[in-house]
Amino acid sequence: EIDPLNTVAIDVAAARDARILTLAPGLPDVLFENDGQLTKAEIRAITLAALAPKAGELLWDIGLGAGSVGIEWCLRHPRNRCIGIEERPERAERARRNAQELGATALDIRIGRAPEALADLPAPDAIFIGGGASEAGVFDTAWAALKSGGRLVVNGVTLETETLLGSLYARYGGAMRRLAVSRLEPVGGMHGWRAAMPVTQWVVVK
Ligand code: SAH
Repeated sequence: EIDPLNTVAIDVAAARDARILTLAPGLPDVLFENDGQLTKAEIRAITLAALAPKAGELLWDIGLGAGSVGIEWCLRHPRNRCIGIEERPERAERARRNAQELGATALDIRIGRAPEALADLPAPDAIFIGGGASEAGVFDTAWAALKSGGRLVVNGVTLETETLLGSLYARYGGAMRRLAVSRLEPVGGMHGWRAAMPVTQWVVVK
């Protein structure tokens, strides 16, 4: 039994086997089955803060991957909804399993390629682009659909995406930042810092 929002009292016997999730975003990576394409916990927590979910809002998670951002969006409030767009069917299926496992029933997964797959979707309150940002038409289509006052957050790890984000920043403003996380790992009998690829993040309000 999973109670992601900690909203119901769970009896002691059931609680022994229950997974009680924290109210804060940035869940441990191990909770998401993934193939390496995963927004890591520290970056995910910052990303969710930038997406700034409010009760009942709709997110588009473009480049759903393992689904971690869309799932965490849905877990913020029982009325939150997310449409996740993923071009690779096996990843979409993995995201579906993760959503089910974590109780994110409001994640609606669409297998398809952005920007084509974005046509005719309901207008979102926030958009996260975790994949496909550098493809023609993805940003323009997303920006056109975003509600006024809505938040758009793009994470990129390649020079090509960063270059695009630089030009979008020059045109639309918002905030750019680079997030670099290192985790301590065993090195022989000792420990050393393992650096993840730095993530360039652009956050803009329409
Ligand atoms: N935020 C995700 C990880 C995203 S990895 C998580 O935490 O799980 C980026 C994903 O974008 C990959 O799964 C890739 O298949 C997908 N992708 C890239 N370009 C795309 C496009 N144009 N349309 C749909 N999905 C795309």
